[in-house]
Amino acid sequence: MAIRKIVERGDPVLEKVCRPVTDFNARLHTLLDDMAETLEEAGGVGLAAPQVGILRRVCIVEDSEGEIIELINPEIVSAEGEQRGLEGCLSIPGRYGIVTRPYKVRVRAQDRDGAFFEIEDEDITARCFCHEIEHLDGHLYTEHCDHLLSEEELQQYMEDHPEEFEEPEE
Ligand code: ZN
Repeated sequence: MAIRKIVERGDPVLEKVCRPVTDFNARLHTLLDDMAETLEEAGGVGLAAPQVGILRRVCIVEDSEGEIIELINPEIVSAEGEQRGLEGCLSIPGRYGIVTRPYKVRVRAQDRDGAFFEIEDEDITARCFCHEIEHLDGHLYTEHCDHLLSEEELQQYMEDHPEEFEEPEE
């Protein structure tokens, strides 16, 4: 496994539509393993292949139990409810915006060996599914917010929503 470099906003690779994965081979497995290691090192909860410079429909999401969910050729098949909250991106370090997303989403995807599966989740994991899948079409969360928070606005948000910033229990 290896840590890959995360590209930052401004790099045209983040604006491209990614191609579907057709070969579920060792190369894909290496990419997925490297992405998991890169995500862990960066301390994020999701990472899409274009963020490491690979224009393929691959992303990973860490769920609320700390499990890495690998999504190949993912599609959102249903969405319910609404949530509004703070969102950031490893490709836009240190910046945050307030984004409205569905509260619960169901995703159909393939696993690393090509088998189709469906997965449903809510809250932060649902937010993350939406965010990562958008990356595969060249979109960033900043398109959903009127502005990124200033340092003062971020401080204020954290004071107003302390429950979102508690350290998760082991
Ligand atoms: Zn992102």
